[in-house]
Amino acid sequence: MIVKRDKLTFWERLYLPAIIGGFKVTLRHFFNKKVTMQYPEEKWVVPPGYRGAPYLVKDQADRTKCVSCQLCEFVCPPKAIRITPPGPQGSPEVGNVEKAPKEFEINMLRCIFCGFCQEVCPEEAIFLMKDYSLTGTSRGEMIYNKEKLLSLGGVHQDKIQKWKHKAEEAKEQGVAP
Ligand code: SF4
Ligand code: SF4
Repeated sequence: MIVKRDKLTFWERLYLPAIIGGFKVTLRHFFNKKVTMQYPEEKWVVPPGYRGAPYLVKDQADRTKCVSCQLCEFVCPPKAIRITPPGPQGSPEVGNVEKAPKEFEINMLRCIFCGFCQEVCPEEAIFLMKDYSLTGTSRGEMIYNKEKLLSLGGVHQDKIQKWKHKAEEAKEQGVAP
């Protein structure tokens, strides 16, 4: 079966109407509201409670809050956390913190941002923050060590400062201990 082609009109043979039509569409989009995000310079503003990457935090006195209880390591579904406790000879890092970890690593390639570590932590030492875009040039770079986790986590403003010495607290409040 032979399909008969319709003959092109003079205007169609010029191709100019089709080109002008294309330009009209481009021009319309040119003045439309821009919807393209200039990532990574621009990033999404995530809502409160968003579960991003987990980081360690310090308290207001610059103490590592983590006490190496290893609950988060135990509960982490993909086994992304690896903690090295200070051991029996380990001395407190600062103040009265009895068992600050010697090393604390989170493999961000394994982490599924589930939030179990934050929920289980008895010391409020680990929090899921707002970072959702983690990059690195090697697998090793994606294993965050204690220093990196603490620097990214920053300071947590605790209402109850568990490790604060009673005498220190009384002095600040101006009462005898
Ligand atoms: S957020 Fe979940 S997967 Fe990631 S380190 Fe914590 S417990 Fe593990
Ligand atoms: S982050 Fe919390 S749960 Fe994990 S070892 Fe430290 S104190 Fe324990």
